[in-house]
Amino acid sequence: MAGKAQPPRIGVLALQGDVREHETILRELGADVVRVRRPEELESVQGLVIPGGESSVIDKLSRIFGLREPLRAAIRDGLPIYGTCAGLIMLADTVLDAIEGQESFGGIDIAVRRNAFGRQSESFETELDVPALGKPPVRATFIRAPIVERVGRNAQVLATLVDGRIVAVEQGNLLGTSFHPEMNGETRFHQRFLAKVNSRTVR
Ligand code: GLN
Repeated sequence: MAGKAQPPRIGVLALQGDVREHETILRELGADVVRVRRPEELESVQGLVIPGGESSVIDKLSRIFGLREPLRAAIRDGLPIYGTCAGLIMLADTVLDAIEGQESFGGIDIAVRRNAFGRQSESFETELDVPALGKPPVRATFIRAPIVERVGRNAQVLATLVDGRIVAVEQGNLLGTSFHPEMNGETRFHQRFLAKVNSRTVR
């Protein structure tokens, strides 16, 4: 029974990437957290986080582990998912500068460009104003991060850099950020994701 006292069961896709940081934040926020590598594990969760890492590797491993099609089906069914960095790439309908044969799961009506910051700024931290999260601004870490280059009419922009480049988006139950809030103890994106999980579970 989905009672209020029952913590939501949240998966972290654990094929590759910074799985542990997300587990820590989700546990702090009261979720029952499991690692997802197999279709059965995916079926058991009410929401999923796709961590940062290397999107071409996550893509490849998702096929090897038989997760790609179940995940695409779960996205179509409205499973709440939060993707950071490579996770955002996996949720984008279109990936620019992908390696040959690389595909995303899709779901968010955007085009992202991989490794969009030049060499000198491959990695940086900045304060980001995210109106949907209120004050204070988000301390965001970008590591070989993608940029959202096109936003279709089904997706909403949540945050841009001062120069206007888009770095956080949302579409229904899907949420994605170019950066890693989990590396700075920032929990508000995870809270927003968990709110989607809770409203879907209650329904
Ligand atoms: N550059 C990586 C990719 O293309 C993403 C980097 C990250 O997740 N920190 O998947």
